[in-house]
Amino acid sequence: MIIIKTKKEIDYIRESAKIVAETLQLCKAHAKEGVTTWELDKIAEDYIRSCGAKPAFKGYPEGSDLPFPGTICASVNEEVVHGIPGDRALKNGDIISIDTGAVKNGYYGDAALTVAVGEISEEKKALMDVTEKSLYAGIDQARVGNRIGDIGNAIEEYVNKYGFGIVRDLCGHGVGRELHEDPQIMNFGRKRTGALIKEGMTIAIEPMINLGTWRVKVKNDGWTIVTADGKPSAHFEHTIAIIDGKPEILSRV
Ligand code: MG
Repeated sequence: MIIIKTKKEIDYIRESAKIVAETLQLCKAHAKEGVTTWELDKIAEDYIRSCGAKPAFKGYPEGSDLPFPGTICASVNEEVVHGIPGDRALKNGDIISIDTGAVKNGYYGDAALTVAVGEISEEKKALMDVTEKSLYAGIDQARVGNRIGDIGNAIEEYVNKYGFGIVRDLCGHGVGRELHEDPQIMNFGRKRTGALIKEGMTIAIEPMINLGTWRVKVKNDGWTIVTADGKPSAHFEHTIAIIDGKPEILSRV
């Protein structure tokens, strides 16, 4: 069931999403050669808590045998998403996808970006650029009168021009009182399919794009998703709300 939010609820989600956006910018500024992903995690957790919010990913999902241990997902190079922060130090030429969420007043915000560490290859630059632009192509379709499938279709059509792999096993989602709500938002699909987009929906759109194959696998840690061919992957995400018929990006600084 897709939950339509009131203006007041959207204000709460906006507040959480803003904290997430600021956290990501802080992590981006610190993502330099020699810094470990654990150090980035600590910076993110401290900032989120300083805003009176709680990290949304830490301990998620509640009651699980294998809850996520970090505040951020830190996914380097061939890691697609859900990388566990640890003692891996960033190297010149790496790309790191940082995904984080925060909850305040009972409402969640969720966003992600990919950052270049030092000088990166032309192909990594292209991958990051196409992934980010595909996110905006998807967001642009999040309008009253369109359908959820229009978002995925726009992402897919944009990415296909470059021949990169669109991860099919993971997707975007509604966001609000829960971190993950209906609907699921695939990063591919057919136009005019899926649920109608309505005023007051709040959703997280998050293309995960691979330089090579779209196929992925899970590492032995039970969390980290990596590309099947070991080639790099990028990830950008925003939490948005449908307001006055149009998408408003809530997780933007
Ligand atoms: Mg998400």
